[in-house]
Amino acid sequence: TEELLRKTEKLSVVGELAAGFAHEIRNPLTTIKGFLQLLKKETNEKHVAYMSIMLNEIDRLEMITNEFMAVAKPQVANHQMEDLQLLTESVNQFLNPQALLKNVEMEMVVKQDIPYVYCDRNQLRQVFINIYKNAMEAMPNGGTITTVMSVEGECVSISITDEGSGIPESLIPRLGEPFYTLKEKGTGLGLMVSRKIIESHQGSLIIKSKVNVGTTMTINLPVDKQQ
Ligand code: ADP
Ligand code: MG
Repeated sequence: TEELLRKTEKLSVVGELAAGFAHEIRNPLTTIKGFLQLLKKETNEKHVAYMSIMLNEIDRLEMITNEFMAVAKPQVANHQMEDLQLLTESVNQFLNPQALLKNVEMEMVVKQDIPYVYCDRNQLRQVFINIYKNAMEAMPNGGTITTVMSVEGECVSISITDEGSGIPESLIPRLGEPFYTLKEKGTGLGLMVSRKIIESHQGSLIIKSKVNVGTTMTINLPVDKQQ
C-alpha cells in the first residue's frame, strides 16, 4: 500500500508540474500563432510558404500541450469498488457516434459475471478512451472493434481487438515511450499515460499485434485489491 501511495503521489506531483508547464507554454504559443497569421496575410509568396510551415509546427505544439493538459490535469486519485462492465459499456456508448462516422462497429462480449474492481473510474475511463481512439485511428476504412471481458485467474481482463494496420513486432517494445508516435498528427502520449494508470492499479497491459491483421490490447486488473 505504501509503495502504491508513494507511486501515486509521485505521479501526481509530476502531473501537476507538467500541467502547469503545458499551460505556460500554451499562452505564448497562441500569441505567436496570431501574429504569424496576420503576417502571412501581407507578405510575399516565399514567406507565405515559410509561415505555413511555422503555423503547422505551432499546431503540433498546441496539440501536444492540449493533450498533456488533459492527461496531466492534477486530480486526486479516487479509488472505489467499480463495475467495470458498466464503465466499459458507457465508454463504448460515448464513442459510438464517432465510430459510426468512421464506419467502425463496436462489439462487446462479456464472458461471465465480472466482479467489481477497486479502481479509479476516471483514470480507467481515460485508458479505455485512449485505446479505443488508437483502434479507430488504425482503421481508416472502418472495421470492427471487439471488446471481450472475462475473469482470468485473479484479474478482470478486458481485451480490445481491432482490424487495423497492426504494429510491426520490433516496434511493440517502444510503444508507451513518451512522445513515441508513428502518426503524422500523433502525440505519443496515449499509451504512456494508459500504462502508467494501469501500473498504478497494479495491473498490466499486454499488446499483441499482426501487421495488416490487427491489434489486441489486453488490460488485466487485479480483483481484491481493496485495502
Ligand atoms: P498516438 O496515438 O498519439 O500516436 P499513442 O501513445 O496512443 O500515441 O500510440 C503510440 C503509437 O502506437 C501510435 O502512433 C501507433 O503507431 C501505435 N498504435 C497504438 N495503438 C495501435 C493500434 N490499435 N493499431 C496500430 N497501431 C497502434
Ligand atoms: Mg493515441
